[in-house]
Amino acid sequence: MNRRKFLSLAGVATSYSVFVRADGLAEAQAAPLTREDISKAFDTVAPPGPSSASPAHEPHMTLVDLSCDVFIAGGGMAGVCAAVAAARHGAKVILTQDRSRLGGNSSSEVKMHMVGADCSGGRPGWREGGLIEEFRLDDAANNPHRSWELWDLLLYDKVKSEPNITLLLDSPRFSAETKDNQIQRVMVRCDKTEHLYRIKSKIYLDCTGDCRLALEAGAELRRGRETVRDYELFYTDAAGQRHSLVKVAGNHQRLNRHSFAPVEAKSLRLQISATNGAETARVYEVRCYA
Ligand SMILES: Cc1cc2nc3c(=O)[nH]c(=O)nc-3n(C[C@H](O)[C@H](O)[C@H](O)COP(=O)(O)OP(=O)(O)OC[C@H]3O[C@@H](n4cnc5c(N)ncnc54)[C@H](O)[C@@H]3O)c2cc1C
Repeated sequence: MNRRKFLSLAGVATSYSVFVRADGLAEAQAAPLTREDISKAFDTVAPPGPSSASPAHEPHMTLVDLSCDVFIAGGGMAGVCAAVAAARHGAKVILTQDRSRLGGNSSSEVKMHMVGADCSGGRPGWREGGLIEEFRLDDAANNPHRSWELWDLLLYDKVKSEPNITLLLDSPRFSAETKDNQIQRVMVRCDKTEHLYRIKSKIYLDCTGDCRLALEAGAELRRGRETVRDYELFYTDAAGQRHSLVKVAGNHQRLNRHSFAPVEAKSLRLQISATNGAETARVYEVRCYA
């Protein structure tokens, strides 16, 4: 019987056009999997490490001890770059990410692409170097439609191609043990595979985007928006007269560019009248181009 005839007959007989043959279903029904069988199957997913009995308060979780040179919490761009860089320099890395994909804000989940050094075309020709450049060049060559999901996949591929990286997806890091102001161990959990990871590392990197590891480890933190809010730029002419060049209110940018007709100035003065909450304002650089 040819395929077309089979399908039309099947459709008449049952009014369904697709049959699925589930081999082994009868046997499976006869001997249902136990909870232990399922846990054992999950264990093959976990990276190898000595495992111990579940903690009393987490009866369904298996505790696994892991160690590495560099532990990284957070698989956004900072975490991915740190992991790949460390691995390529020979360090054993554990990268843990609380989502099912890498990329953080730049992933298909949030879709905030990296505009980077060229400021969305504002500074044509400016480029990041290093790994960001490597990833973006790969993306330009292999993902011409700039599909978000392919970007996720590219980052996953970069990480999985490094044999020195153990990647834990869907695994939030949730606590840190400290002694004498040093992190001793961190805890990571993966509820999908029912594992609790107790991880010891030589170096711990917080790439969570919101300092969660630093906060739980009791590290010193700075908060707040430190940019200058309201400012005015003056110049002094040859006769010693002061003139206003630029006046800005409500700024939130770290880098601002202003264009104006050329002037001959003896000196410049930047006057800041308000910050975005910080007690003092800091300006690192003022550049002038003719
Ligand atoms: C408002 C906004 C403005 C931006 N502006 C720019 C810009 O000017 N220039 C530019 O190039 N790009 C910009 N971007 C885009 C770019 O995507 C981000 O700069 C970049 O992705 C930040 O990377 P990150 O790794 O520091 O943090 P994130 O992308 O936040 O990544 C942190 C990751 O850690 C994970 N995580 C958090 N807590 C835990 C935990 N406890 N355990 C495990 N994982 C955890 C999070 O799920 C997340 O995936 C912007 C994005 C946003 C949203």
